[in-house]
Amino acid sequence: MAIEKTLVLLKPCTLQRGIVGEIVSIFEKKGLHICGMKMMQLTDELLSEHYAHLSEKPFFQRVKDAMMTAPVIAMCLSGVDAIAAVRALAGPTNGRLAAPGTIRGSYCMSFQENIVHASDSPETAEVELKRFFRPGEILEWDQCYFQYLYANDEF
Ligand code: ADP
Repeated sequence: MAIEKTLVLLKPCTLQRGIVGEIVSIFEKKGLHICGMKMMQLTDELLSEHYAHLSEKPFFQRVKDAMMTAPVIAMCLSGVDAIAAVRALAGPTNGRLAAPGTIRGSYCMSFQENIVHASDSPETAEVELKRFFRPGEILEWDQCYFQYLYANDEF
């Protein structure tokens, strides 16, 4: 168990649907610590890097285009095992199959328009946080209720 940082993107569909506050609130209520947050208009170049693992897929350009239709909100969240915890909260890629209670299961019906991106491993989180945040944009600060989030042998 370790305190990790992970990247979350609130996708253009989330901004268009006016549910940014609700989704941010889910992360806050879960106990994830917000260390960075900013609005960005993504470019094809950045998305080609971010979604390089999908470059052979027929929907590659479509996914990138959808991510450029409006700004995104990039967040750096931290917590014990935050990478896995955020992925579990997001649910599987296809919102139609995601369990009720997960973000995708509760808020979407799509494989593509699926509300959030979340880093899938420590290696990916490190690379992705550097891709979306400049040095100085991720802030270290103490959450006053930290001692009520974890037992003291959990981190
Ligand atoms: P995840 O976002 O769950 O980690 P991937 O990294 O496989 O999933 O895919 C990145 C994004 O590309 C997904 O969140 C989704 O928006 C889109 N995507 C992936 N697979 C499909 C698909 N089969 N059809 C449409 N969009 C897809």
